[in-house]
Amino acid sequence: MGLLECASGASVWRGYDYYNEKKVKNLTETASGVFTADVFGTASEPYVVEIDVAHPRKSTCNCPHADGKRIVCKHMVATYFAAYPEEAVRFYREYLKAQEEAEQYEEELYARVQEYVAHMKKNELQQALLELLFDGPEWQFERFVRDHDLDEY
Ligand SMILES: [Zn+2]
Repeated sequence: MGLLECASGASVWRGYDYYNEKKVKNLTETASGVFTADVFGTASEPYVVEIDVAHPRKSTCNCPHADGKRIVCKHMVATYFAAYPEEAVRFYREYLKAQEEAEQYEEELYARVQEYVAHMKKNELQQALLELLFDGPEWQFERFVRDHDLDEY
């Protein structure tokens, strides 16, 4: 597994932000695929990070989240992106692509629902509407009552 796959989604994003904000300093490759760096976070002192790309779980960082644990933290991710900027570009591109695909799926779903509703019979529509009103959220019911002037008080 690659280093990014070992990190949580939140850590990858925070690491990406750190990398973009140029918080990774003194990046040095000490051996093939092993990098050290100082990563400036919220604390006044930078965190000391070492990443091992071939063995991500052997990476170390002295932040409270990762210190002494086999966790891939955001500082390691930031260091990884600093060492491999093309990976940062790829990560963001993939995010945009996934975003686009999700939007496209949603549009198709909307169209499918619209098409389906257009072909429903009157009694089916009434049934569906009542279900939405009685089983749906309270605000929806109240809005229907208000919009159709059904409240006698
Ligand atoms: Zn850390």
